[in-house]
This record gives sequence, structure tokens and C-alpha cells, in this order.
Amino acid sequence: MSLGRRVLLATLAAAALSPAARAVSLAGLTGYASATAARERELEAAFQAIPNPEHTREWHRTFTAEPHPAGSERNNELARFVADEWTKQGLEDVRIRRYDVLNTAPREVSLTMVAPVRYEASLREDPVEADPDTKDPRVGPGYLGLSASVDVEASVVYAHSGNPEDYAVLRKAGIDVRGKIVLVRYSNPYSYRGFKALTAEREGAAGILIYSDPAEDGFTRGPVFPDGPWGPASHVQRGAITYDFIVPGDPLTPGWPSLPGARQLEPEQARSLPKIGGLPLSWKDAKPLLEQMDGPLAPRDWQGGLPIEYHLGGGRVRAHLKVVMDNHVSPNYVVEGRIRGAQAPDEWVLLGNHRDAWVFGGVDPSSGSASLMEVTRAFGELSKTGRRPKRTLVFCSWDGEEVGLTGSTEWGEDLAEELGAKAVAYLNVDSSASGPDFQPQAVGSLAPLVLDLARELRDPASGAPLADALRTSLTKSRAEKGQAAPVDDELVDVRIGSGSDHTVFLNHLGIPTVGLSFDGPYGVYHSMYDGFAWMNRVGDPGYRYHVALARFWGTLALRLADADLLPFDFAAAGRHLRVFVGDLEKATEEGRLDLSRVRAGTGAFEAAGGRLADASRRALAAGLPAPDVARRVNQGIREVERNWLDPEGLPGRPWFKHTLYAARYTYAHLELPGLTEAAEEKNWERAARQAAILERALARNAALVDALAKDLTTGPATGTR
Ligand SMILES: [Zn+2]
Repeated sequence: MSLGRRVLLATLAAAALSPAARAVSLAGLTGYASATAARERELEAAFQAIPNPEHTREWHRTFTAEPHPAGSERNNELARFVADEWTKQGLEDVRIRRYDVLNTAPREVSLTMVAPVRYEASLREDPVEADPDTKDPRVGPGYLGLSASVDVEASVVYAHSGNPEDYAVLRKAGIDVRGKIVLVRYSNPYSYRGFKALTAEREGAAGILIYSDPAEDGFTRGPVFPDGPWGPASHVQRGAITYDFIVPGDPLTPGWPSLPGARQLEPEQARSLPKIGGLPLSWKDAKPLLEQMDGPLAPRDWQGGLPIEYHLGGGRVRAHLKVVMDNHVSPNYVVEGRIRGAQAPDEWVLLGNHRDAWVFGGVDPSSGSASLMEVTRAFGELSKTGRRPKRTLVFCSWDGEEVGLTGSTEWGEDLAEELGAKAVAYLNVDSSASGPDFQPQAVGSLAPLVLDLARELRDPASGAPLADALRTSLTKSRAEKGQAAPVDDELVDVRIGSGSDHTVFLNHLGIPTVGLSFDGPYGVYHSMYDGFAWMNRVGDPGYRYHVALARFWGTLALRLADADLLPFDFAAAGRHLRVFVGDLEKATEEGRLDLSRVRAGTGAFEAAGGRLADASRRALAAGLPAPDVARRVNQGIREVERNWLDPEGLPGRPWFKHTLYAARYTYAHLELPGLTEAAEEKNWERAARQAAILERALARNAALVDALAKDLTTGPATGTR
């Protein structure tokens, strides 16, 4: 999954910058004493010298050679391939973990317009000469993952983007969608297709068709594949409609791992399983229906990129929709490998990427898979010469991400206790490269570290630091909205939604996460055309951005794995938190919500974060801290993120336990989720309870961070932990 936040933006001209601009002096590495910093610099340089475009391209060809959706024989074969290669590369403890989960595939799909004229939708994508893979007979029709089976003949209504406000417009126009088939488009504005399905289900529709309008990802935007990045007429955006915003992972084992033989719910009891069925459509298949629609003319902003008038649908168009799904329990395979830490093997820095793809997965996810294989190859080579990090690096190749973040969720639930004790951070890469636009995302406490690295590592085309390219791109997009240029704190995105494998780590287990990618114009998402040829003609022809991503990812892992004192910045986390609280206050009716104590708690946490940063700097300037002090402080730093968890979870979806971060049902980011959702529902009593939960977490963390600062300065405080 994971369609980047600015993925549909046009490519930006690379920033011109003097090659002499050295962003970071050799002296300072946050979290390092000077002796270890010098060694770290050397190790990072040795690591960065290994990944190369030729190898990356070979990995990419292997992953994209055949369709490999979750549960398919090919995807399972690729799990064995990854495990074998990791073993050869020199990774340790390589194993494949099996989870028996609800997988999804279509048995029979058809859509026929039966009135006013007959049209049989092809549901297939047309081959193009320039891309031999598009002639692969193994490519199936488009379908929606974990759709219900449905067989209905009914009239068709155009419901714009399929969000609740769209149905309100239809109701005003006197159109009832109950028992009908709704036809909705993907974006405008973007919302996760599972939310469109849930909304249609709640509105009583009998089926849902989701199509790609050229205004969003086709010819309206620019040249289409094979001449450009955008989707051709027949491209279909496949995808799951699982309600994983309620609980992700295997719908039959919410909250516990799908180990072979585990207890399973009946499908009727599973809250994340859609009860509605439907299909994704290309605009080529949607146009015949749209141009026959009668009824009122659709509002102006509902008109799309096709040269027709879009109508709401007055009953003239009738269609027969048949979807017979084969949703059954079968294995998902998560591949795991490690480079054991030399000094602190029980502290883990985790790196993961999903392997399963809707078809070939050129960008999503095989670009990320190719980058991951270069990262592991590099660490394998270093370890063969005896150069290994201080902490353990754990690498994971996830399965079933596209179905419901399934493999990572089951793995996280399986290893929850161990992860709670050992994990330092989870570094996720879904798609690594669809263009040159760097898009880092991190929790507030890790954003400064990510920005440090973005100042050191360079854009492969311009040679400028990635941070400069990022600033240029953000300045431009903000100027278009009439906003001021970004300050440093705004360069790394700290508002983290859902839609990829970081979810279980951040939202369920309280493990800080980072997400990395290079984005660009990308209109073939989840279609057959997202393949090897697209990457080589359009996305990243020289594989330079794949390599830049591998270098960034591995360097970030090393920086965390080798630090004397973990480089988390709680003052920065506090500053971001202050912005979140301010946003909520602005959005809430005045006088309805008393956030003064939350604001005070945020200030105390931020100030404690500043004191810990000062104490760390002073301690490291004086040399290496005593091992027992460093161990205690690092342990405490890891506890801070866990402390944001509320064991009760969010009201209505208790699997989501983080008090600062969650996602909306649309997958959009949602900060201070318990509090924000209560305020949006104007449930002030619940909002007050959620505020109290947040106040307690803030107080706990301010005290903990202060105790760590004191420990570094004067020895352990007592009674605080
Ligand atoms: Zn993906």
C-alpha cells in the first residue's frame, strides 16, 4: 500500500547547490562520544560504499518477474529466495515464520451493463508492446481484496469519492442508494478504498465499483505509460477493502497471532471484514456506464477528466455485478534475519519491507524489496570482515501487507513481549523509489536524527544534500497554498497515518517508527503496469534513488545501533506535541474543552527533553559514560515511547493504544486520537477522560526523562521508575 503524501505532485527540479556545502562538521554526532563518533563515521562510509545500481536492478528484476500477491506460490517462493540469499549474504538467525491467515483471491468476477445498452466490462488491462511483462497470461482481472461475494442486478448511482459527505449530496438530490450499485472514483480527495466500502455498506448499497478517473492518475495529469508515468486507459487500481482501521492483521485473530492452530473467529464475528462486495474499474470500463447515466447533473467538483457530463444516476443504467471470492485461510510467510550486535545483542533496531504485490509490484513494494536486499548485502559483507554494530539489526520481509498489514501485524503480536523489552525503533520502507522526491516520516523524537542524515546524504542527481532538496520541494508546495517556507521542524513529516507495516509497531506496541521513500508522479499504483519496465523507462531508470534509499536506511539503522546514548530528541517531540495540542484547540469550539493541563504537561515534557539533551551532550563531551549508566539511560529512553500507550486503547477500537498517534478510517494521520475523536463527536465527557489519560502519560514521561537527565549528571535518582 502506501501512496505517499505528495506522490501525485509533479517532479521538482533538483535544487542547485554549491558542492562545497558541507552540512555537518566531523565533530558532532548526536549520541556519540568523540572516539566512538570517529569509528562510526568510518563504518558508515564503508557501509555506504557497498550498495550499487547494478545489483539493485538485478534484485528488482527477480522480484518483479512474476505476479506475487500474498498467498500465491510465487510469493512463497520469493520468501525462500530471500531466506536463502540472506543466509548467503552472511545474515544470522535466518528463519521463515508461518502465520495461517485469511487470504483473498477472486474465483469469478464480472460486470455487465444490462440497460439501457449492453456492455460487458473487460476487467482486464491491455498489453503494451514496450513492456513484455504486460502479456503475462498469469495476470488476472482486477479485484478488491477481502471483498464479500455478491451477485446483484441493480441500477447504478455515481457517488463521487464515496465519502459520507458525498451521500449527503445524493440525499439532497433525492437519490437513495439503498439496494443499488454505487460507482465511486478513487481520489478527490483521497480516502482509503476500505473506508469507501464501509461507507457504502453503511448507506445500504448492494455493491461498490471504484474506478480510476483520468483527472487523478491518467491522461489529464500527463503522458501515460509507456510514454510517461501516468495510468493508461485500462489500468486498474487493485487493493484491499479490509477495515483494518478498526483492527489490522488477520481479521480472524484480532489482537493475537495467527500461529498454526490458533483460535479463530467466525467470519461473521470479524469486525474488519467487509460485508459489501465490489470491484475496481479502469476508466475504460467505467466510461460506458458514466456516459449512459441520467438523473441530475453532478456538481461541478464531481465532474472528472473524461470528456462527458457526469450525472448522478436516475435509474436508467442497470448493471449485473457478480463477484465470487475465494477468501480462505492459508499461510503467510515472514522472513527474518539478523546481524547480531557485538555489545548489546538484546537491543534491536528493526528494518522491514513487504514482499507481496498486487501484480508485479514495480514500485509497490519491489523497489523497497530491492533496496532491502542491498542493505542486507552490505551488512553481510561488513560482518564477514568482523565489523558489526553494537546493537542487533533485525531485518524482516513481510507478507500480506496489501491484504490487511497482515504479516507484520501477526509478527508484532507474536513477538509483542520480546519487542516491548528489546526494540529501539522500527524503520519501514514500503516503496523505495517512484521518483526523486525524498519523503521522510518519523515520530517527533526521531525527526531530528532523520534530518541530520538528510543533511549528510546527497541527492544522487544534483549532488545536493537531501535536506536541501526536501526544503525546496516543501517551499514550493507550501507557496502554492500561500504558506510560508518550512522551518527545520517541518522538513520531516511527523504526522503518521496508516497504510503500511509501521502500524503494529507504533500504534499497538509503542515502538518509535520511521518511514522512508523517494516519490514522483506515479499513476500506475497497484496496476499491472507497475512493473520492471515502468521503473526502467520512467520511475528510476538508473536505480540511483533505490541506492540512495538503501544508503539512507542502513546508515540510519547504524546510527541508532551504535550510539552510546540513543539519539532520541524529546524536546523536539514536545515541540511537535505542542503543535498538535494547538491544532486541536483551534479546531474545537471555544470553552468546550479544557486543555490547560495537557498544555502544561506538554511544556514540562519538552523542558525535561531539553535537560536530557544537555546532560547527554555534557556527558559525551567528557568521554564515554559508565556502562551501567549508559545501559540505564538507554533503557529509560526506550520506555518513553511505550509510556504513550494506553492499555485500554482507543474507544471503539482498542487495538490502537498510542495516545499521540493513530490514523483515521480514511488512513489519514490523526494526532491525539482519543481526544480528537471525542472532541469531533462533541462528546465532552469522553474528551475529558481522554485528556486525563494524556496528562498522566505526559507526567510519567516528564518524570522519567528528568530522572534520566539526573542519572547522567549525578547518578541514579530513586523512586521514579
Ligand atoms: Zn506497499
